[in-house]
Amino acid sequence: MSFFNQSSTFERTWPSARRHILDVIENGKYSHGRKVAELESALAGYTGAKFVIGVNSGTDALVLLLRAAGLRPGDEVVVPAFSFGASATSVVLAGGRPVFADIEPDGYGIDPAAVADAAGERSRFVMPTHLFSRLADIDGVLAVAQRLGLAVVEDSAEAIGMRHRGRHAGLFGAGGVLSFFPTKTLGALGDAGAVLTDDRRIAETADALRHHGRFGGTIADFPAISTATGLPGVNSKMDDIQAAILLAKLARLDLDIVRRAELAARYTAALAEVEGVRKLPSARPDSVFYVYVVEVESRDDLAAHLSAHGVQTEVYYPSPLPLQPCFAGLGHRKGDFPNAENACRRTLALPLYPDMSTGDCDRVCDSIRAFYRGRRG
Ligand SMILES: *Cc1c(COP(=O)(O)O)cnc(C)c1O
Repeated sequence: MSFFNQSSTFERTWPSARRHILDVIENGKYSHGRKVAELESALAGYTGAKFVIGVNSGTDALVLLLRAAGLRPGDEVVVPAFSFGASATSVVLAGGRPVFADIEPDGYGIDPAAVADAAGERSRFVMPTHLFSRLADIDGVLAVAQRLGLAVVEDSAEAIGMRHRGRHAGLFGAGGVLSFFPTKTLGALGDAGAVLTDDRRIAETADALRHHGRFGGTIADFPAISTATGLPGVNSKMDDIQAAILLAKLARLDLDIVRRAELAARYTAALAEVEGVRKLPSARPDSVFYVYVVEVESRDDLAAHLSAHGVQTEVYYPSPLPLQPCFAGLGHRKGDFPNAENACRRTLALPLYPDMSTGDCDRVCDSIRAFYRGRRG
């Protein structure tokens, strides 16, 4: 069974996607056009964000958010040691310097206590990442950020649908992002992303930056450097065809989220007593099961066993960010980020997508049980 498949979800959404796509074709503007604007307002409705700026990818959204939020060359951003690479590379691409902090011992978000230790004179931002199925300790991060005078930008790329205190992920501080990479909870048929913010100035700057620095105006008045911000813009416009697909899928997102939760609960019930399975994700009010990640013994052997039995899994993420080659210059060593290293060694993402059948879910669990029984016996 594949790790991810959306062909039957897509069949269900096709009638609506088709209408939106025909709209795009007839309208004649295929990039940064009316369908993108329609998606932005639908997402503003879904998340409660005052401003949604559709861009090319979640990674671009992070870079543009940091720049729009006022990151200046050399500014430090405190980021988690355990995350997708873009959580740290976006800082470099925006001209800043990532400073790494370990994650919580019992979760996958940045540890507020570690933020306080990592932050220095030049630190201006902290960027919590909400991974897998729940939010980072956002109240803890907000408290430490306030104490240290840091602005909070969220890597909420995985966190569509996750809410806490009635607020959607990405809207606890200066702003956040969404990724619509195909495997994400709301996935396009290609790359796309968005910036979320309640701050008008950040929104206007990100809006200008995504489109060569253009700020209103006409084609004749098309500065590569935004006259409003003095910053060089890039081309990170969203395709209207992707916006069309996303509008169709957004209409059934909450149903998909419910189905993901059902499958997650089924995994949890079946795996709770399995020897060798050390930790299962807990379902909390803020949970949205983008992926179902377990912590297990002999992780790589289990993954190989599952693969041999036709079950694809993924390791998110095999190595802590500070130990990756592009950050070698920072001089971190093994042992500096013990919680991140533990997560890298033990976590495994099992297949989970709305089209997955309960039978498939049971097969995965049977195969996991068989693996640990085989090792014991
Ligand atoms: C997917 C993801 C991104 C990047 O999004 P893209 O759309 O793939 O560029 C950034 N951060 C996290 C945590 C992600 O999961």
